[in-house]
Amino acid sequence: MTILITNIKELLQVREENVSLIAGKSMKELPSIKDAYLLIENDRIADFGAMENCATQNPDQTIDARGKIVLPTWCDSHSHIVFAGNREQEFVDRINGLSYEEIANRGGGILNSAKILGRTDEDDLFNQSLKRVHEVMKMGTGILEIKSGYGLTLESEVKMLRVIKRIKNTVPIKIKATFLGAHALPLKFKNTKRAYVDHIINDMLPVIFKENLADYIDVFCEKGYFSLEDTERLLVAGKQFGLTPKIHVNQFNAFGGVALAVKYGALSVDHLEELKDDDILALTGSKTIPVALPTCSYFLGIPYTPARQIIDAGLPLALATDYNPGSTPSGNMNFVVSTACIKMKMTPEEAINAATINGAYAMGCSDDYGSISIGKKANLIITKDIPSYNYLPYAFGDNHIEQVIINGQIIN
Ligand SMILES: [Zn+2]
Repeated sequence: MTILITNIKELLQVREENVSLIAGKSMKELPSIKDAYLLIENDRIADFGAMENCATQNPDQTIDARGKIVLPTWCDSHSHIVFAGNREQEFVDRINGLSYEEIANRGGGILNSAKILGRTDEDDLFNQSLKRVHEVMKMGTGILEIKSGYGLTLESEVKMLRVIKRIKNTVPIKIKATFLGAHALPLKFKNTKRAYVDHIINDMLPVIFKENLADYIDVFCEKGYFSLEDTERLLVAGKQFGLTPKIHVNQFNAFGGVALAVKYGALSVDHLEELKDDDILALTGSKTIPVALPTCSYFLGIPYTPARQIIDAGLPLALATDYNPGSTPSGNMNFVVSTACIKMKMTPEEAINAATINGAYAMGCSDDYGSISIGKKANLIITKDIPSYNYLPYAFGDNHIEQVIINGQIIN
């Protein structure tokens, strides 16, 4: 099966040589070809270039992309898209003056989601979550990381991870699974946090390993959640079971979690709304990528991750949604890209690099995803007729996507 896309107004994120991530000043560069073609063979990108050099004859299907921009699908490296029910009431409580921490202290927040998830059966959880995954695919997401962490018991954490596995086997997009047993402290362990960490290490990790349910281990390293010591124990244990760390850190407080994550070879450190010079120093020269979640800041009204400070220090940055029922009930990467430009002063080029190739790196997938390169998966967004790619973040809140192609197949 061959599909030829012709007359592309501009083909974005064209990378001839194999790059796995883009850092610092280079993030301002987004290589492109104007008036381009792209050839798909089965599920891969087979060829591309300037329209005048297009030699393909008799493809099985031709798409005329006159006036339209083509770019790789979004790579969303941080989501909690598997959840049950919603938390609209807390949204209203926050409007009426309660903080996220106050709501959590009243048994709301993550524990509230865990309660609802505990009484939702696996099929129901699968169906609720699958619907959301289909929605984000239509909005251009082509690889997605999904975390557990609303179970907080052996049974429910495993239930979540099995649902993630079922989604992986059902949808055409690539799915990566992260075990986040240390997302919050269950009420049962309210005064015995160490015992809960023991429970994760001794009881949950072996089952997850045996059933091959996760690629990564995550910890909510934050005051009132899991300390540096807890985090270190969990990362050490996770690594023994073959799970690479990808952690929630510096959302409300910066106290050394970034350096700890780097020490244990974390693939990514996510959130970083609070960032100190020491954190930048720890990341410099490491293989750990910072991940910003701007629509979480937008929804909670907390500071944005200082993208300028990170990029100007020569580091890479990825963008992701944090799709979850409490602090980011949206999986729309287009809005993430807009928010990064509007609120974090990232240029459109930086934001698109962060949401494609760097997002792929944050899921260990940049060999196959995140750029227009020969041999990579044919995961593409074809926009509507728009004036330029700047229009994508500029005209925020509108849907500028006409078609999404996943593994060489048009999905909408
Ligand atoms: Zn998160």
